[in-house]
Amino acid sequence: MASDPLLARIGALEAEARKLEPPPAERTAVRESVVGYAEGFVDRIHELKAYEHRKEVARELRALPIAEEPTPVEEVLDALARCVDAPGLNPASGGHLAYIPGGGLYYSALGDYLADVTNNYAGIRFTGPGAVEMENVLLDWMAEVVGFPPGSGGNLASGGSIANLIAVVTAREARGLRARDYPRAVVYVSSQTHHCVDKALRVAGLGECVRRKVSLDDRYRMRPDALEAAVLDDRAAGRIPWMVVSSAGSTDVGAVDPLEEIHKVARAHGLWSHVDAAYGGFFALVEACRPLLAGMAEADTVVLDPHKGLFLPYGSGAVLARDREALWRAHRAGAAYLQDRPEEEVVDMGSPADLSPELSRNFRGPRLWLPLMLHGVAPFRAGLEEKLLLTRWFHREAAAMGFEMGPEPDLSVTTFRWVQEGAEPEAVNAFNRGLLDEIHRDGRVFLSSTSLDGRFVLRLAALAFRTHLDTIETTLAMLEKKLEALGARPEGAGALRQGLHAT
Ligand SMILES: *Cc1c(COP(=O)(O)O)cnc(C)c1O
Repeated sequence: MASDPLLARIGALEAEARKLEPPPAERTAVRESVVGYAEGFVDRIHELKAYEHRKEVARELRALPIAEEPTPVEEVLDALARCVDAPGLNPASGGHLAYIPGGGLYYSALGDYLADVTNNYAGIRFTGPGAVEMENVLLDWMAEVVGFPPGSGGNLASGGSIANLIAVVTAREARGLRARDYPRAVVYVSSQTHHCVDKALRVAGLGECVRRKVSLDDRYRMRPDALEAAVLDDRAAGRIPWMVVSSAGSTDVGAVDPLEEIHKVARAHGLWSHVDAAYGGFFALVEACRPLLAGMAEADTVVLDPHKGLFLPYGSGAVLARDREALWRAHRAGAAYLQDRPEEEVVDMGSPADLSPELSRNFRGPRLWLPLMLHGVAPFRAGLEEKLLLTRWFHREAAAMGFEMGPEPDLSVTTFRWVQEGAEPEAVNAFNRGLLDEIHRDGRVFLSSTSLDGRFVLRLAALAFRTHLDTIETTLAMLEKKLEALGARPEGAGALRQGLHAT
């Protein structure tokens, strides 16, 4: 038998293939190296820069080939440290105050570890009943946060962009739009709507539909009266008002649209009402934010990003639909090779594979379930309220320093710029761009900018779970120093910062 060439070849291949299952001693050694590296990263996170500008990394990483033979773990981790973890933005840093910060909760990493080692499949209830149930428990919990009634459904997506795509497709199917309708179908957005909504429309084949940008009030919130006027205009012109997308926390300025009034217009005119709460939705965990966000409960679909508002590592978005069946109708699918699924589970509409474009995907439950179970919800609520108040504190202190501030923050984003007396608009923009460059060169904190009505403004977004008062005080002190270095004259430092300077 051993002389059978087929068996001989199988034997040789097995010897090589079995290396993919390292023996316990090797697992232990590699695990200890990796965990040691990760622990070192977390232990030193407060000393690491929030941003480091380095260009040569691409070349260094490419110098390390993907080879037939193994590379020692030390070499691999060293490349990771130099080429991947050091350069650019450090998204795990509390000093990440740009865009919408993500998180990186430690227990999420352990949840991913467990999910990956077991490789549980959470797509179909039949094969992963517990895994699917865990994801549904989490979605039910989110539905409760949003205020959805029983009967709602949802899906744990990879992020807000895909979650918005799922909502767009659900709205398209629920309203029965056909290709011939697209050029007349109108979606109501604002200049503050996240660009992923436009991308989702194009990806969903709806690139031809009309985007109506509804005008904003002086705090960058969609005006419901303008929405209604636009809907009436479109209807009179023979177009099909189809969907309105409001923001519960716009990315640019953190503004929350008047959700309840927008839903009222939507209901009156048969629009699908979608709320993009990717950034702001989880602030509903904070008592003080409830009234502002209460309108989420009346939406048809809501998008949330646990990798923003629940401080998870990237890779976690969620879409919730008031009517689970609408989600299911838009995404259900079957195949001959899936015929072993019991019929009742296909129609219970509770399997993620029937509620999203994905079939095989990572088990997304544990990275959220583990931290919620091990920490409880209380520190999440506290962390979110803390970020709100830190933003208010920054808004007040930066104003006192002499910055021209954007609107009082609805949530945890605020905009600001330095305006020198008598300077031309172009010079003001250039000055603030220069100020931002200085902040980036320093790197202890990382801010970003945006453009509002042609004005270049700096923005601060507090949502990283490691951002605390000391981070904000460092930022204020840095701004003060950089202003002075650029020849501006900031006004008196706050009491806390004077203490900071003294130490
Ligand atoms: C971040 C964000 C998105 C996009 O979500 P990703 O998770 O980055 O794909 C959409 N809308 C809003 C309001 C956001 O803040």
